[in-house]
Amino acid sequence: MYCPCDDLVVVFRKEIIRTTRRERQCEECHQIIPKGAQYFYWFGKMANCSNGFEHTADFRMCLQCQADWDTVLELLPEDESCHCYGKLEDNINVALENGHIDENHPLVQRFLKIEPEAAGQLEPGLSSEPQSQLVLEGL
Ligand SMILES: [Zn+2]
Ligand SMILES: [Zn+2]
Repeated sequence: MYCPCDDLVVVFRKEIIRTTRRERQCEECHQIIPKGAQYFYWFGKMANCSNGFEHTADFRMCLQCQADWDTVLELLPEDESCHCYGKLEDNINVALENGHIDENHPLVQRFLKIEPEAAGQLEPGLSSEPQSQLVLEGL
């Protein structure tokens, strides 16, 4: 399976835990991050290995999804995992399909529990597009 992170290298990145002053939406589980709650913020610049083209991107997710990323990357062998933000659920599905976890695993249970109607709507201007361009460095 082709993954855009295969072609991208992180030039620089900044990762911080922020407290949000307004309601936001987690870009992984799409749950609402309430005003005053902490969330994980990633900002960085990526370069395309083949043409040198650089672009910046940012990403926001809830702290539970940040913890789940750590868990799923520990479960998955390097050649089965995708390190792009926005692909947490895909990685969990791969772990399930390849038998690293079963459907009773908390990761699977958590994502199964999220009904579409329970997930918040994307705010205007909060793009869901650049996720596949994000790469976790050093994994
Ligand atoms: Zn989340
Ligand atoms: Zn990837």
